[in-house]
Amino acid sequence: MINRTLIALNNLSVRLRRTRCKPGELLVLFSRCLQRSACERKLDETVAACARCGKCPVKDFLDLADKYGIQVFMATGGRQAAARVKVRGVKAIVAVACEKELRSGIFASLPKAVLARKIAWRVEACKDTTIRMEEVEEAVRWFLR
Ligand code: SF4
Repeated sequence: MINRTLIALNNLSVRLRRTRCKPGELLVLFSRCLQRSACERKLDETVAACARCGKCPVKDFLDLADKYGIQVFMATGGRQAAARVKVRGVKAIVAVACEKELRSGIFASLPKAVLARKIAWRVEACKDTTIRMEEVEEAVRWFLR
């Protein structure tokens, strides 16, 4: 409950700050549990090895990168994700993860603007999770408006 409130307040404060950025300055960072567990592709943070079969949301993130020219990375660990958001050229972030990870990510990214989008569980936590991509795309479009 506390995490949900904090995320909602963060998203509201980001909207009020009215941060805008260029496509190359926007990072979409998503949790690795969105990759289908049965997928045999060994993905690193760039997810370049994804075959785009469409059986999980990783393809949709790559499509977003192609469509808008934004940066898209998969978080393969907390430390790696924290380093990625601190890269100088990154001005704003759309973070896609569970509430616990979103809370950590918001604090790790300060003072950069983060719009947080919560994943949903299909069967069990941290496995084969899903996300409403229209909500991710809305956040991308808001930063690029
Ligand atoms: S879209 Fe297909 S190839 Fe890419 S990570 Fe998902 S299941 Fe694997």
